Amino acid sequence: MNNKNLALKAPLSGPLVPLNRVPDPVFSSNSLGEGIAIDPTNDCLLAPCAGVITHVARTRHAIGMRTEQGIELLMHVGLDTVLLNGEGFDALVKEGDQVAEGQALLHFDMDSVALRCKSLITVMVLNATEGYQIRPLTTQPVKIGSPLLLLSPCGETQNAKASADEVEENLIARGLAIVAHQGGLHARPAALLRQTASDFSCVTELHLGERSSKAESIVGIMGLGAAEGDDVLIICQGQDCQAALLAMQKIISTPTAHASAPSSLPAASRTISQLPADTLAGVSASPGLVSGPLTLLGDITLPEETGKQDPKEQHMALDLALQQVRADIQDNLSLNHEHDHPDESAIFAAHYALLEDPTLLDAADLLIDEGVDAAHAWDRAIEMQRSILKSLDNHLLSERANDLLDLKKRVLRVLLSDSATLEVPAGAIVAATEITPSDLGPLVDAGIAGICMAEGGATSHVAILARGKGIPCLVALGPQLLQQDSGQVVVLNADQGLLELKPDAQRLEQIAAAQQQRLIVRQRQQNEAHREAITLDGRHIEVAANVGSSREAEEANKCGADGVGLLRTEFLFIDRKNAPDESEQQAAYQAVLDAMGKRKVIIRTIDVGGDKHLSYLPLPTEENPALGLRGIRLGQARPDLLDQQLRALLKVDSAQRVRIMLPMVSEVEELISIRQRLIHLADELGVRQLPELGVMIEVPSAALLSDQLAEYADFFSIGTNDLSQYTLAMDRGHPGLAQRIDALHPALLRLISKTCASAARHGRWVGVCGALASDPLATPLLIGLGVEELSVGPNLIPEIKERVRQLTAADCRQRSHELLNLSSARAVREKCREYWPLA
Ligand code: PEP
Ligand code: MG
Repeated sequence: MNNKNLALKAPLSGPLVPLNRVPDPVFSSNSLGEGIAIDPTNDCLLAPCAGVITHVARTRHAIGMRTEQGIELLMHVGLDTVLLNGEGFDALVKEGDQVAEGQALLHFDMDSVALRCKSLITVMVLNATEGYQIRPLTTQPVKIGSPLLLLSPCGETQNAKASADEVEENLIARGLAIVAHQGGLHARPAALLRQTASDFSCVTELHLGERSSKAESIVGIMGLGAAEGDDVLIICQGQDCQAALLAMQKIISTPTAHASAPSSLPAASRTISQLPADTLAGVSASPGLVSGPLTLLGDITLPEETGKQDPKEQHMALDLALQQVRADIQDNLSLNHEHDHPDESAIFAAHYALLEDPTLLDAADLLIDEGVDAAHAWDRAIEMQRSILKSLDNHLLSERANDLLDLKKRVLRVLLSDSATLEVPAGAIVAATEITPSDLGPLVDAGIAGICMAEGGATSHVAILARGKGIPCLVALGPQLLQQDSGQVVVLNADQGLLELKPDAQRLEQIAAAQQQRLIVRQRQQNEAHREAITLDGRHIEVAANVGSSREAEEANKCGADGVGLLRTEFLFIDRKNAPDESEQQAAYQAVLDAMGKRKVIIRTIDVGGDKHLSYLPLPTEENPALGLRGIRLGQARPDLLDQQLRALLKVDSAQRVRIMLPMVSEVEELISIRQRLIHLADELGVRQLPELGVMIEVPSAALLSDQLAEYADFFSIGTNDLSQYTLAMDRGHPGLAQRIDALHPALLRLISKTCASAARHGRWVGVCGALASDPLATPLLIGLGVEELSVGPNLIPEIKERVRQLTAADCRQRSHELLNLSSARAVREKCREYWPLA
């Protein structure tokens, strides 16, 4: 080892992105090695130091080099760019070239690559750095060629593995494997191979023709140039060589998923090995396979021009609309200011300024003076400016054109009245950046076939609502979604997390046939929906519904719900500007109870805060709202609100069918104090029979203290959405993490198992009302762990009931505990598929 300091220079200009924030687990998990990423503002990658080029990806999106100290660098431009097959990339060096610091290595077409890949974020990872300490030299945005990382020698380190020479000759295993990865052994499979090899003590090498590489070296593996279909020779030397050989063979011959494809998620999302052309990959938030015309939400169809309009009236109409939009933006600005969202504030401030732009206003006024109505005048004024900006062919300016489009829509919505916004054709597949819960009702009423969003998470509230309504929904499809044309017929394959942009006639026929098949299965399940769900060995599982309104409760009753397992009371008044009083609340709860006939209804006390906001209940600004004043904590901070709700609940007819449930409980005192409050209020109202009082288990502390809680709670209902968020420390609405936040993670399963055991000791029952209950793959596992009630989206009741009837509880119990010892949600899903295949 050459023990000199080595300063690596920035290979690109742009803001730095710490490796763990790169939205691709292969890089963020450090499995490729330590390093740094840059979100580039220029288009030519330079050598960060002198060295020799060891690898140029066949798809030209990645370059490997070795420094004279033997350190290996991998520079990977953009995320998932292997899928671009080299388009937009121009390698300026070849393998074996000696390069100087600052030499140009790779040119890429920023616009075309940015449009077609997930992100331009460019990662530089380091390998073979044993004996060096890596320190960042800056945290600020860098200019190309400026100091970036310092590698300083830190003395000799122990290499845990024996060198090949020390290994006894007879402990050798050799075997071939055919590469099954699209694009060959590129960064992702190479990372997996290195990770796998590190699980064994033997030394592993890979050979292809003349080339060979140690399994620890990702750049070396990539340097093999192994293409899909190539035979790679694996040689393992050491004690556990046989096991290592098998594991390595498996990795090489099993295709990997791409980061932008869903891997393992509730509601039937799945792994895909490649992304077909004209397809966007997202995350399934609600399963289903449908086709229909894509309708970008917010696209407004202008009414026909009716000829001469009175300019005075039209000026007034436009002025009023502009005033309203300015006021809305101002409200947004103050809200963002309170919530400290500087980026959003900047955008809104720019929009506000554009609304006062004299060029726009003068153009609109002129058109109105000529007899054009306000809506058409505004539309044309904006379009004129947009076409000028777009024709300049300047990236930044065309973004301004998008801002104008946004303003055009906002003003037109006011001019044409709000209802125009959500007018979509029946059968449409609605696309938007993010759809809000209050948008969903009118869209469902319009008979849409599916929803896709550029952003959003699979456990967001709108995703939950979509699942409840049986509307297939994909989230996190990326900004490309919004660049599609409205009206084009697409296929929303929410079972596989894909949006097919250009399906041919044959594909559309196939979808129609699949839809027909679904209808047949659905009909069969629906015919049996009102029967109880009893396993083959006689265990009764209650299949209840998650609802947010009395209308949904009616739907749930029709779908065969055994009760309501979760009424999200915060949804009852979601589109209100002022708070409902006690009698309004009482009437709303009564309506849900009435809709459910004689069945029980679990009513959760209001759960706002975190990702749930009510416009009539503005909450104080918090630095970290998901960990702040939410759920039952708000009830404690605002006892007036909670008392009002408890009183309304105590006053309903058929109170014996009401079960009250508390959200976000984290310790037993919260439950005890609210039980006391409930007793006090019941005394005041002269109510003699108290409703059952249960708690949600959605915070790890509640699961860990479930033995204490079980003493005081009448029942538990596990909220796997929040339990995932807080156990895995992953924001449930984070689009970049949507693929990883999977409630079948063994850590959650252990918490569920503990909760069920605690409840059983105290004779309490446990339900699950989070999204995991709606995932048929999870049904046997939950039953096996001791769950007795599954509360799911109303439309999923018939399917989950059918699933229950096909299982044997004893077998579920026997096998489920073994799954707690697996190491990942993916492994759990695989086992579930093996043990309890879905029909
Ligand atoms: C949950 O967290 O799993 C849950 C059911 O509650 P919500 O989704 O309303 O937060
Ligand atoms: Mg919750």
